[in-house]
Amino acid sequence: MRGDYHGPAVRKGPSLKIHEYQAKQLMKARGISVPSGLLATTVDEAVAAVRPLIEELGNPVVVVKSQIHAGGRGKGRFIEYPDLGGVTVVLAGIDGGVEAAEEAVRELAGKMLGSTLVTIQTGPEGKQVNRLYIEQGVDIETELYLSVVLDRAVSRNVLMVSTEGGTEIEEVAEHTPEKILRATIDPAIGLANFQAADLAYGLGLEGDAFKNAISFMKALTAAAVELDTDLIEINPLVVTKAGGVMALDGKMSFDANAMFRHPHIAQMRDESEEDPAELEAAEHDLSFIKLDGSIGCMVNGAGLAMSTMDIIKYVGGEPANFLDVGGGATADKVTAAFKIITKDPRVKGIFVNIFGGIMKCDTIAIGVVEAVKEVGLQVPLVVRLEGTNVDLGKQIIDESGLNVVSASDMKDGAQKIVELTK
Ligand code: ADP
Ligand code: MG
Repeated sequence: MRGDYHGPAVRKGPSLKIHEYQAKQLMKARGISVPSGLLATTVDEAVAAVRPLIEELGNPVVVVKSQIHAGGRGKGRFIEYPDLGGVTVVLAGIDGGVEAAEEAVRELAGKMLGSTLVTIQTGPEGKQVNRLYIEQGVDIETELYLSVVLDRAVSRNVLMVSTEGGTEIEEVAEHTPEKILRATIDPAIGLANFQAADLAYGLGLEGDAFKNAISFMKALTAAAVELDTDLIEINPLVVTKAGGVMALDGKMSFDANAMFRHPHIAQMRDESEEDPAELEAAEHDLSFIKLDGSIGCMVNGAGLAMSTMDIIKYVGGEPANFLDVGGGATADKVTAAFKIITKDPRVKGIFVNIFGGIMKCDTIAIGVVEAVKEVGLQVPLVVRLEGTNVDLGKQIIDESGLNVVSASDMKDGAQKIVELTK
């Protein structure tokens, strides 16, 4: 039971992501078919991976795969090497294949490691590649799509498959939604045989591929429950020329609140892939999620934070973040929160919306004033305080000499900040 847990504090947040090679380790350990591969963080490690992979299968093809927390790597390109893709196949020929493949991998790894890969999911700034996965080349017959998604609307995992593997599933969903087949999984039963058979049939599979696909789906959906994933996406899931069914790519993310049950997964976290602002917020025990808008919000309580974002949108603005400083925040915590918000260059204005219950308005006011003195204030600030010690709080802000606009209520505050940022 959760209440009995006394281990180390683990990050609570929306979702924890891991790399493809880690997802494949987890799958392999559960009997789910993946190609063999070896992780490399240096050029020498990448070269050393080639011989064992080629000799294991007698197949002279290896694939060098950039490990970043973003998809679209195959079509992505390096800023430093515009002709080089993030997933590159090395075909060295049967004769003398190993040495030739080693040399090719040496050159590729030398370029890829430390360079910046831009894909449709990284944004134009791209992501630095620090790890490579050297993988066996697979003889692909067809590329399919498969995912297990936690559907919050029905509180169940949903298995989705499509014949349109290798392409962006969002495109398929938009233009040809009939090509996505779904099965909702009853948690008490798991994926039923008839459901798996239905989907495998819908994918047009026959013979060994049909049977292998059913085993694959059953094992993967069981793993989703065991590992507390909120998403497993296999794109592509491939059928090999020999009728095997294999995960060629693997994206997994987990319910961060369940990671106390999976310390080995919590350790797979790669902080260099995460948003620095979210990491800093986690250190101060703030619930913070970065969004795309321009209005920074500082709020106490998750419910009030949600309704603040709603009202900002309602009056025509876009929130830059979700930030809940919590019920018992100290002035220090408020200062930390304020600094995190102001660091974001997209923030064009800040809305502080606090209901002082347990949290007193004067504490918030002191924190805001201290933070502004420390980091300065380049953008408009609207403060709405309500609750315990509200008069004292307002007095502290008024006497601080800061350029702060006070708001009489939530909607008034939202309207004022939206106007000031226009
Ligand atoms: P991403 O989705 O980030 O582009 P993938 O792992 O899906 O990365 O790889 C992109 C494409 O590269 C795949 O659709 C597949 O065609 C090819 N590919 C990836 N891994 C292998 C492999 N081990 N053997 C053969 N082809 C591969
Ligand atoms: Mg993929």
